[in-house]
Amino acid sequence: MEPNVRPVQLGFPRTRVDAEVGDRPDVPELVDRFGRVARDLRVSVTEKCSLRCTYCMPEEGLPPISRDRLLSANEIARLVRVGVHKLGIREVRFTGGEPLMRRDLEGIISHCAREVPGIPLAMTTNAVGLEHRVHSLVDAGLTRVNISLDTIDRDHFAKLTRRDRLSSVLAGVRAAARAGLAPLKVNAVLMPETLNGAVDLLSWCLDEGVHLRFIEQMPLDADHAWARSAMVDAQRLIEVLGERFMLTEVGRKDRSAPAEEWLVDGGPATVGVIATVTRNFCAECDRTRLTAEGTVRSCLFSDDEIDLRDAMRSGASDGDLATLWRGAMWSKSAGHGINSASFAPPLRSMGAIGG
Ligand code: SAM
Ligand code: SF4
Repeated sequence: MEPNVRPVQLGFPRTRVDAEVGDRPDVPELVDRFGRVARDLRVSVTEKCSLRCTYCMPEEGLPPISRDRLLSANEIARLVRVGVHKLGIREVRFTGGEPLMRRDLEGIISHCAREVPGIPLAMTTNAVGLEHRVHSLVDAGLTRVNISLDTIDRDHFAKLTRRDRLSSVLAGVRAAARAGLAPLKVNAVLMPETLNGAVDLLSWCLDEGVHLRFIEQMPLDADHAWARSAMVDAQRLIEVLGERFMLTEVGRKDRSAPAEEWLVDGGPATVGVIATVTRNFCAECDRTRLTAEGTVRSCLFSDDEIDLRDAMRSGASDGDLATLWRGAMWSKSAGHGINSASFAPPLRSMGAIGG
């Protein structure tokens, strides 16, 4: 059968590389040399995880971060305050590792909610055990969740995540929807193994009323097994979904939104495709990252990190921390460069940086 889709044009990196490198302008925001402004803060709160997704973690888990190297709830809240009040951050998302592995997650969120009232506080989670904590998290001030779910086939899930926890994840998705965490998004990493189940996963998400987005797999696995030649790209996914659904391309909701949306069977539901590798959106990237140890990372793919934790513990003022953070973001690179011949994956894997 012919897929019900129009061909998408993929494969053209859209990063601007011709920006002038000069002095940093004297503005409070997190600007970089390419004219981008970071307003979306990702905060990793732990390296620990309840799953071991093959595209992310090693089988034995990441080397543990000792308690004294991990940011405390107070330290996280202080840096979030600096980000919002001094640097123009407009959205905060907690990630990891798995944020639910932190017993004091409610405390982290409520502390941040007090420091930055009105700023959306979101979380990216695998949803294992979420059903038991969703109300306390909402009471603490959590406003949104993105849930990672790659397949609804139990055996396949167990193989991909090395843990038999699908039922807990599905219960977590439903509990989050019942708790009113909207819009509820499910993210699925696109792998050769997940392609076969993509139609079932989309059908399930449509039935549950949650928004599904597929993400191209990036070379951020701890095992360094990623290969460009074996990667399933967005184009192939659209062909496969198009054999079952009528898809109509509607594009991005706004310039910095990573997902390109497709109406499913005439809408109103859509499915998103985040083509991080074949159609990168580095030119519009508005993210800045804090690792669980308190370093600023300007890009997933850059190993350069600026330490705010030790500065904070040595008595730096909020103004000093903001200056360090601005410097880290000014030197952000133009793009991830995955498609260039000289590309080398970063030292840290996705779970160690905070996705
Ligand atoms: N444990 C939480 C979770 O899985 O949602 C939060 C941390 S996880 C590192 C954040 C996101 O990164 C997840 O949606 C996950 O699927 C995605 N991710 C991990 N490794 C990836 C890779 N190699 N390529 C693309 N996305 C990846
Ligand atoms: Fe854990 Fe999330 Fe990485 Fe999977 S993607 S291993 S759930 S941190």
